[in-house]
Amino acid sequence: MNEQIKVTSPLLPDLNDFNEILKDIWDSKWITNNGKYHQMLENALCEYLKVPYISLFTNGTLPLITALQALRINGEVITTPYSFVATTHSLWWNGIRPVFVDIEPQTCNIDPNKIEAAITPRTTAIMPVHCYGYPCDTKGIQEIADKYGLKVIYDAAHAFGVEKEGQSILLDGDMSTLSFHATKVFNTVEGGALICHDLETKKRIDYLKNFGFAGETEVIAPGINSKMDEVRSAYGLLNLKQIDNAILARQIVAKQYREALSEIKGISYLDDIIGVRSNYSYFPIFIDAEQYGMTRDELYFKMQEKNVFGRRYFYPLISTFSTYRGLKSASSDNLLIANRISKEVICLPMHHQLSNEDIKRVIDCIKK
Ligand SMILES: *Cc1c(COP(=O)(O)O)cnc(C)c1O
Repeated sequence: MNEQIKVTSPLLPDLNDFNEILKDIWDSKWITNNGKYHQMLENALCEYLKVPYISLFTNGTLPLITALQALRINGEVITTPYSFVATTHSLWWNGIRPVFVDIEPQTCNIDPNKIEAAITPRTTAIMPVHCYGYPCDTKGIQEIADKYGLKVIYDAAHAFGVEKEGQSILLDGDMSTLSFHATKVFNTVEGGALICHDLETKKRIDYLKNFGFAGETEVIAPGINSKMDEVRSAYGLLNLKQIDNAILARQIVAKQYREALSEIKGISYLDDIIGVRSNYSYFPIFIDAEQYGMTRDELYFKMQEKNVFGRRYFYPLISTFSTYRGLKSASSDNLLIANRISKEVICLPMHHQLSNEDIKRVIDCIKK
């Protein structure tokens, strides 16, 4: 039996380098609470991502929850059902009603042309996702937000390092969040970040992620604890040094997938977008069962028999989970494209260590 090909593999720092830093942390006995490595990683990420302010978090879900708190969002928020559940859960944890809007088939992102019809007097914000790292129509979304006085919080968990016309897409909207989970392009084991535009807002975010403390004795809000520690900050600093090489390796995988798949009837995929620096975080393919001669699930399980593990991201849609399916906006009539795509998609194995042999095995599964 062939070895397992997994959908992803974490980018790991060199263990000797990591041990050296660990020794420094052990000697200092400063292991969390805005220590040296935490500050160094925030600075290094600001520079790498070309953003002015970043706050580190312990995962990628808490920055979503905290962004909503920082901007005092309530009522209803317009969002996409085609994402990881954490996007919508962050609204629920804030007592906000999610309002689902359908996606565009070209990018799998929220369709700006359908947002306006979903706005009510209770709407306070829009929470789009740069799905698979493909930029949303940020201009179209901002125009609607400005017209109705809404805030925009981007779940940019997939969009580490993505740039449009040389500018980070993390600068769009009022705030953007990142996830540094082990399965993401850039990881700190678990981790995440919140990006904002000004120092006053960063200060407020930093209070909120530390119980609301604004000094030794002053608590300005019911904050939470979501601080990143020194060990994972140091791990992140080491990974940042090898991130460009990892993205390059992914790009080569994507190129090989595209070349091979372009010849297969009934299989489509997303292309690079002119002017966008991609991070190749995922490689989704879409199966047209009629043309391909097999359904998505048939192919998915056939691949598993050959020890090739993709993921059905994003299936099922968030709007179908028990918490959300009772909402009016969760009806399948409202989400036709998202429903169709969630039944056609498989994310192929995609990481920096896939060999030519691995790629050939994945392609062969799909060809046969
Ligand atoms: C991974 C992910 C999150 C959550 O991040 P965690 O670090 O796992 O908490 C949120 N949104 C999207 C779109 C994600 O893919």
